[in-house]
Amino acid sequence: MNLASLNNLSEIFSNTATMPALFLGHGSPMNAIEENEFTSGFREVAKSLPTPNAILCVSAHWFTHGTKVTAMEMPPTIHDFGGFPQALYEVEYPAKGSPELAVETKKILEPTLVELDEKWGLDHGAWSVIKHLYPQANIPVIQLSIDYTKPPSYHYELAQKLNSLRQKGILIIGSGNIIHNLRLADFANMHKDNYGYDWAIEAHATINKYLTEGNYQPLIEYEKQAKAIQFAIPTPEHYLPLIYTLGLQQKKENIQLFNDKLVGGSLSMTSLKIS
Ligand code: ZN
Repeated sequence: MNLASLNNLSEIFSNTATMPALFLGHGSPMNAIEENEFTSGFREVAKSLPTPNAILCVSAHWFTHGTKVTAMEMPPTIHDFGGFPQALYEVEYPAKGSPELAVETKKILEPTLVELDEKWGLDHGAWSVIKHLYPQANIPVIQLSIDYTKPPSYHYELAQKLNSLRQKGILIIGSGNIIHNLRLADFANMHKDNYGYDWAIEAHATINKYLTEGNYQPLIEYEKQAKAIQFAIPTPEHYLPLIYTLGLQQKKENIQLFNDKLVGGSLSMTSLKIS
């Protein structure tokens, strides 16, 4: 990439009022092609937003050594899953990238070293949900990876540095699942309404209480919390995108939950908007 030929971000994206920020529970990749209450929840939230200039997505499915940002003009659609119907592999989400936004993101995250990536693209954590928000794929999308060597507090602080992008009309989306224990999922009962095991119901209530109270310290220190939370978050990758979204919240902003249901016993689709 010829960095010298890129325009400054302020030349291509106008200043805007602060763009809301989202955390989206993406659930099964099948949500990309199904119509259900969760996909209509995604569409509804998009209607409540000003049209973004671009999207920056922190997906559970780009978990890397170090931090990277996609910097290609045309990110390919990555089908990063196995054993699903052919129709899911045929989905393409042809949104453009934004090398300018990638360079700006790298700059504002200094001194953290951010690698401009030309190899990734859009993984299903990004496209399976963004596709419902912007079906025409007419908003440029970049992804920021999650550095798996770092603790949650690091990600919370890194997210705060991204906040200025929200005044450039950038919609920042964390995409994961707050409660995500796939190993224990009851796949025979995936469509049972709001179905959670006892520990999932407990973890859901506790986490939602912290979220609605704006009490984020226990959420950042989730590894120190009760056993139910440990079952809910056995690995960090689907949880940390939430920490990015929470890191963006400013003092006067509110948090609004939607798609707030348990699925398959051990997963939650809880999503939220900060505005
Ligand atoms: Zn996932």
